[in-house]
Amino acid sequence: MTQKAFIIGHPIAHSKSPIIHQYWLGENGIEGGYEPLDIDPKDLPAFFKQLKLGTYIGGNVTIPHKQDAIALCDEVTNEAQEIGAVNTIFVKNGRLFGSNTDILGFLANLDAKAPDWDKQGHSAIVLGAGGAARAILVALRDRGFKCVHVLNRTKQTATDLCAQISGPFQAHALEDFEKLAPEAHLLVNTTSIGMHGTKFTGMDLKRLPKSALVTDIVYTPLKTSLLEAAEAAGLHTVDGLGMLLHQAVPGFEAWFGHRPKVTPELRALVEKELGL
Ligand code: NAP
Repeated sequence: MTQKAFIIGHPIAHSKSPIIHQYWLGENGIEGGYEPLDIDPKDLPAFFKQLKLGTYIGGNVTIPHKQDAIALCDEVTNEAQEIGAVNTIFVKNGRLFGSNTDILGFLANLDAKAPDWDKQGHSAIVLGAGGAARAILVALRDRGFKCVHVLNRTKQTATDLCAQISGPFQAHALEDFEKLAPEAHLLVNTTSIGMHGTKFTGMDLKRLPKSALVTDIVYTPLKTSLLEAAEAAGLHTVDGLGMLLHQAVPGFEAWFGHRPKVTPELRALVEKELGL
């Protein structure tokens, strides 16, 4: 029987996940499907109930359903619980298993593009304290970072986040960047700044050590204003598109039994679809 997977969101038309999974199905000669489904939040419980019947082998969950999906799964990984969001579901024997692959996606992207990025030192600055920041904090903690400064426009949100996730996290305002920068080995942007031409102000990246790595999880544009400034300061950079590609790997492997590869061809295809 042909196995089918899905991605649910509301709206869903913008998602690039179908391009990624359909590319891997074709490349690996797997007879399967991956379907985008627009599910209104009020219909989410009924959709999850129907999933148990086995029409789909699993799928992805995106905005606005990632938080609500937790309570609708039968089992959820510790990581997804800690992040507070499920983005990948596997259906087996009428039970729904939820996980979150953003941690793996973030780490695999840096491992691929900047080998030894985590060997330079274990102090990081994370900009932002929203949904995506949660996965980044867990990822850095699990990679052995000893000190992670979380800087946010709304400092209270950073304080709340640091209290909710256990780890070596300290909350600050964005204005504290220059004071903290000289000790940081890694700078990660998890805010939406960089999209639509927006940029940080009053952030001198030359304050970072010359060996520091700067990465942005925003990938539209590929070279965000932060990455441009980092390059101008002579720092090594990694863009955020690889995180999107790598986070898709565990789901595909679980559903279709084949570990797919993130190749330059896949990246070029997604860049083209995004108009990058
Ligand atoms: P979110 O929960 O809405 O959080 C947004 C964050 O950005 C908050 O910390 C917010 O600060 C900050 N922010 C927004 N506007 C700002 C401004 N004008 N100045 C300073 N800070 C500002 O969003 P999210 O889900 O975390 O997503 C953040 C970004 O990551 C999005 O662009 C998303 O596309 C991207 N992302 C990429 C990947 C990937 O695979 N590469 C994965 C997930 C997310 P306040 O708390 O002060 O509002």
